Amino acid sequence: MDGYGARRVLRGIAPLSDEHARQVDELLADKLAEAPVSSWQPATLARQVARLVQRVDPGGQTARARTAHQGRLVQLDHGEHAHSRLTIDLRSEVASACYSRVDAMARRLRRGGEQRTLDQLRADLTADLLLGNQPGVTVPEAAARVYVHLPIDAALSMSDTGCELDGYGPIPAPIAREIMTGEKSVWRAVLCDPATGDPVDLGRTRRRPTATMRELVRVRDRECVVPWCHRPARQCDLDHEHEWAAHHGATAVDNTGPRCRRHHTMKNTPGWTSRYDPTRGTTHITTPTGATYTGRREPILTPQPARPARPARSPRFEPKEPPAQSPPHDERPAPPSEPDEPPPF
Ligand SMILES: [Zn+2]
Repeated sequence: MDGYGARRVLRGIAPLSDEHARQVDELLADKLAEAPVSSWQPATLARQVARLVQRVDPGGQTARARTAHQGRLVQLDHGEHAHSRLTIDLRSEVASACYSRVDAMARRLRRGGEQRTLDQLRADLTADLLLGNQPGVTVPEAAARVYVHLPIDAALSMSDTGCELDGYGPIPAPIAREIMTGEKSVWRAVLCDPATGDPVDLGRTRRRPTATMRELVRVRDRECVVPWCHRPARQCDLDHEHEWAAHHGATAVDNTGPRCRRHHTMKNTPGWTSRYDPTRGTTHITTPTGATYTGRREPILTPQPARPARPARSPRFEPKEPPAQSPPHDERPAPPSEPDEPPPF
């Protein structure tokens, strides 16, 4: 593990007691031993540590989140050149929803021929909304939806582990339950089977992925299939692993994986091979110089032994309206929850 990765691990376990830190250390050593080293990029490592912290110290994790939420604030920093910065510290799911909505509005304006950049539009729209000005564009409520994954037992308060917020990572179960039941929630909770850690799958055979299938693939894979890329799947292209025309690939959940625009382009660049096996969740990448990388999709939840009394299928909390269509995206990096994204391709 390199120095930067090690610092990310240390930051993750810093608030723990010695005993909990030791437990995380042991579990992490097991994980590192069972997976190829190339799949452990610093951001992936940091998330893995967060999951282990959630497992050994769920109560502490919840308490730290509550303390952090107590510190929410708005800050104004005046800078140079008649320019200033306004920052808002919020719960992650609220911040994600705010960003998604403003982003959807900006993209709709761009599609309508707007010349300002997406960055400029997001900034101007945020200011309009705060000032109560008419932003000149409307988007469906679903544009502000974020996905929260809960194992059934965590949703039922029978367990306090395994909950994740898309694009962020593990969150404390009590907070996930608040999101699930929140009256004002436009967040979508996806209940998962604790035995497998996966949401229910469906097979479809049409050329165009249906909205349901798109949603299932996004729920299952959550992120771009390239192991070091954490761009949320709903901002990715859904790509046939076996091309429809050339290789008779079916439009089905098991022949589809999310790739961000950048890695979609990479897949089709001569010299590169990039294969994703949606059933096993494994990605193999070969670069033009012959270097190979292997990664594996982490299950949404850590698989637990099946409990016969539980339903085998996962019920879902349905949204109030049809799923949001993913807007086309530009080459801008994902919202800055994971700023580090090596290797540089
Ligand atoms: Zn990607």
